[in-house]
Amino acid sequence: MRAAVLHAAKDLRIEDVPERALGADEVRVRFGAGGICGSDLSYYFKGRVGDFDVRQPLILGHEVSGTVEALGTSVSGLAIGARVAVNPSRACLTCDYCRAGRGNLCRNMRFFGSAAIFPHVQGGFSETLIARADQCVPVPDHVSMRVAACAEPLAVAVHACRRAGELAGRSVLIAGAGPIGILLALVARRMGAAFIAITDLVEAPLAVARAAGVDETICVATAPEQLERYEADKGYFDIALEATGSPQALASLFKVVRPGGRVVQVGMMPPGVIPVPANILMAREIDFVGAFRFHGEFQTAVDYLSRGLIDVTPILSADMPMGEADAAFVLAADRNRAIKVHLTF
Ligand code: ZN
Repeated sequence: MRAAVLHAAKDLRIEDVPERALGADEVRVRFGAGGICGSDLSYYFKGRVGDFDVRQPLILGHEVSGTVEALGTSVSGLAIGARVAVNPSRACLTCDYCRAGRGNLCRNMRFFGSAAIFPHVQGGFSETLIARADQCVPVPDHVSMRVAACAEPLAVAVHACRRAGELAGRSVLIAGAGPIGILLALVARRMGAAFIAITDLVEAPLAVARAAGVDETICVATAPEQLERYEADKGYFDIALEATGSPQALASLFKVVRPGGRVVQVGMMPPGVIPVPANILMAREIDFVGAFRFHGEFQTAVDYLSRGLIDVTPILSADMPMGEADAAFVLAADRNRAIKVHLTF
């Protein structure tokens, strides 16, 4: 089968790789569409994500949908021909965190397309991929493969919004109008947020956020005072969600969150120690929590998409063949032109 294999930074090759044998509890999925994520971009442009270096050829991709074409001998509940969203989290199902219902914190996680462990776990940008049956969630025919592939980033947003606590009636600030930031806005709205503002350094993605129904967009590069006015009277927002991975953005959030509010770290920061205004956190009794990937929220995300409760079409920017993967990665990294780019074979 052909796959998009990263050998080193900016050395992405479409090449034939051997297909491994199907396990009894696994299915083989024919690739439908695959979204390019910020971590794929980081692997592609830098050869690493956070603290994880690419140390062997790595098939990228973890936002994948497709069609089931072969079933392992013990698989039930999935049929050949089923259209599925593939959950890239392959948790062990047996460790203490898995048993406690927090599989995203699994001690033995094998996440598709990740260099976090060695040997690396290969990803989903390949003509076929093999996943455990429980990783494959059927989607109805009216959900396109591209939309189904958005289940993964949408699940990240659903999990982060759950970590934010009650959202109904609350004022919410989102830092970063990338795919995750905009999906956070869509989920916060679905969960009843009364007022949603979003910040970015670039105007183009803010226009997409407006089209997605965000109440206020703030370009902190050209109009920082628009955010600073919320610092008055000990802050304004009940909830702030950090989805930029920028230390400066994180620090700015504590000033505009009201006493008793909460800051959720969703974005991945650069390696090392990131400063936090701890005295504001202390004096306002702000809760600062992390949100990492998702667990049961993958099913919730598929439900939202299947039932039309969340419309992700505002973030769908382009659809490009795997043979043009280099161009697709360049487009996906251009924040003036794209939010979410999908690959197809
Ligand atoms: Zn586990």
